[in-house]
Amino acid sequence: MPRFFKEFFQSEPFIDGDDAKHILRSLRMTVGEKLTVCDTKGFDYSCVISACSDNRVDLEIKEKRKNDTEPTIFVTLYLCLTKGDKMDLAVRQAVEMGASQIVPVLSTNCVSRPDEKSLKKKQERWQKIADEAAGQSGRGILPKVCETLSFNEAVISATNDDLCVFCYELATENLDTIDDNIKTVSVIIGPEGGFTVPEAETLAKNGAKTVSLGKRILRAETAPVAALAAVMLKSGNM
Ligand code: SAM
Repeated sequence: MPRFFKEFFQSEPFIDGDDAKHILRSLRMTVGEKLTVCDTKGFDYSCVISACSDNRVDLEIKEKRKNDTEPTIFVTLYLCLTKGDKMDLAVRQAVEMGASQIVPVLSTNCVSRPDEKSLKKKQERWQKIADEAAGQSGRGILPKVCETLSFNEAVISATNDDLCVFCYELATENLDTIDDNIKTVSVIIGPEGGFTVPEAETLAKNGAKTVSLGKRILRAETAPVAALAAVMLKSGNM
């Protein structure tokens, strides 16, 4: 069933703008047909189209239910900038895997170093990709793609979470079970060239848990999926 997101949907049970155009022109839906709307706060509404005009679809709410796809932990993925469209893939897959927030990071070995203007454009593009992935995967929230942080800013922010998982190919330990007291988890993934030794030391000194994702070197766009799968599995969310 088609799925859309709209904040405060219960008090305003209609859809307008681009989503209305999509419902009416691309999906060619009409009165009497069913769709689901998520209020981005964890509730899903099963609806039937009650009226349509050019740019607006009115909906009758048939059922409200708690969305049960959200993990019990809030996971922020700190993702170092990668080249080409690899970030697009990483963002999409991170949302599918349950990340609640994505923070792009500029570290020493990032080959991609866009200026501020193109970073802003990229952020908007990644947010669109994240929104699409949230709809496709049935998420109960719209995970946010934040502004790009420097490595040092990312260290401060990530190590504030209950658990900070730093994925490092030279690590010898695997991720332990994540107990119920842990509510916020950050996951840090490096760029194609990896982290420098001083960066790895800084993360460890600031309390990040340095973990291995296995003996094989994963590409920068594969590592986030593996890391998020491990976090979801170890916290009972898979
Ligand atoms: N510098 C590395 C090299 O060329 O051998 C590769 C870096 S890898 C392409 C990009 C990032 O994915 C790393 O910085 C790390 O965060 C993560 N990663 C890849 N494989 C990993 C593994 N086996 N264990 C933990 N992290 C891994």
